[in-house]
Amino acid sequence: MKRFRACLLALVLLLSSCAEKGEETIRVSDGYRNYYEIFVRSFYDSDGDGLGDLAGVTEKLGYVSDSLGADGIWLMPVMPSPSYHKYDVTDYREIDPQYGTLGDFDALVAAAHARDVRVIIDLVLNHTSSSHPWFDSAVKALWKNEESKYIGYYNFTTGNPGAGYNRITDKYFYECRFVSTMPDLNLDNPDVREEIAGIVQFWLDRGVDGFRLDAVTSFYTGSPEKNIAFLTWLNGAVKAIRPDAYLVGEAWSDGGTISRYYGSGIDSFFNFPYSQATGRIVAALNSGSGSGFAAELAEWNAGIESVNAGAADALFLSNHDHARSAGFLMRDLQREKMAASLYLLAPGNPFIYYGEEIGMTGSGADPNKRLPMVWSQTDPDGKTVPPPGATQSTEGLAGADKQLRDNGSLLNHYRELLEIKVKNPEIARGEMEAIETGNSGIAAYSVTWEGRSIYVFHNLTAGKVEVDLTGLNLTGRSVSGYLATAGGKPRISTDRLTLPQMSSAVLR
Ligand code: CA
Repeated sequence: MKRFRACLLALVLLLSSCAEKGEETIRVSDGYRNYYEIFVRSFYDSDGDGLGDLAGVTEKLGYVSDSLGADGIWLMPVMPSPSYHKYDVTDYREIDPQYGTLGDFDALVAAAHARDVRVIIDLVLNHTSSSHPWFDSAVKALWKNEESKYIGYYNFTTGNPGAGYNRITDKYFYECRFVSTMPDLNLDNPDVREEIAGIVQFWLDRGVDGFRLDAVTSFYTGSPEKNIAFLTWLNGAVKAIRPDAYLVGEAWSDGGTISRYYGSGIDSFFNFPYSQATGRIVAALNSGSGSGFAAELAEWNAGIESVNAGAADALFLSNHDHARSAGFLMRDLQREKMAASLYLLAPGNPFIYYGEEIGMTGSGADPNKRLPMVWSQTDPDGKTVPPPGATQSTEGLAGADKQLRDNGSLLNHYRELLEIKVKNPEIARGEMEAIETGNSGIAAYSVTWEGRSIYVFHNLTAGKVEVDLTGLNLTGRSVSGYLATAGGKPRISTDRLTLPQMSSAVLR
């Protein structure tokens, strides 16, 4: 059994949709969450200036937690920054005025917690903005040939080391792995680490439930060992303040590398190899190879848990840096639904990128991947302006309002998936084991938690399939939830499960 914050397990009684049938679902409220990634600027504008803001997120929490059913949000950077995306911070203890105030932030956290929605925020530690007062002080001191402790906050050098560095004075260069406006911090400097410890304390004191760690492979470029050592320190610093805080790292890399990073003790790393157009989820859909998908995913989970017993996989289809999934799923509603079923019914903490649940598209230049959330095509309330540089639009896409009223919509498919996860807490928390059904088009696996097992079956083929439950020792089970992407429903008898094309069923 996983030890991932099991000690803090609390049970919340929740009357779910099955209450109509007289059943009650016990909702488990622990560190396992279905996260929703929000780009605040493009989400919901509460005050009419065209820019999404924290009050707007607060206003739409009902959508996030009731309509969709997510129980965690990841806010992309909210700290002051000169850029529209805010991945270059000028003050680690403030809110960007475009997004609101610290008071707005506190109100958002309080409202989220009232709904049992956890809030994690983006923490960008690899670099600051070149407009950060630390960098400003350092550069001024270098020009004047004076001493300043801030010089040691960055990696200045005389002579040009080449790529990844930029000239700043007549004599000095500084490390900037991304762009010249993002100078890399010297994370070896004890003063910088003290600053970081103070920053995480500041936000944890304000009630955040954890952090999404940006660009962890760039902390010490080219040195996974040093990155892992730094993350080990950071994990300790955060958990010393709040043992149940959640950390998820962006190690944009291959599976072998990501697996190593779990050695830091960080709870999750985004599962890049399964994401995007070229990832394993889309490959499974394209090839119809369900059994291979289940076997690989079970092996992956066992692998990361062997490195960190508390590891929680963080599957996703796409994020703010990638072409949106509806595009690479060919705007095919059935495929969009099936892709969602594959990653949301797997163990760990999945991340849904805002707008993915309504099939938003966007690709190419980054601003296109971060377009305004489509709440409605008719009601302009809260609508934000596109980020600068965006050239694509979401014209014609059915908005969230319309999709909520359509039982067959993608949004309702996501909602149903997350409801199934509430009813079957084993899915997120348990040990996954692949089941070989003899049909390569079926992804089948068990997930076992606290001595209870559930069984997930995905039919990735274009036709109806039958599974012999006797041969799998699964006779007498019942269907706890199902999702059929093209109508119909699974049928179960004592010894046989029949799945319509491109559908999923959870047995228990
Ligand atoms: Ca606004």
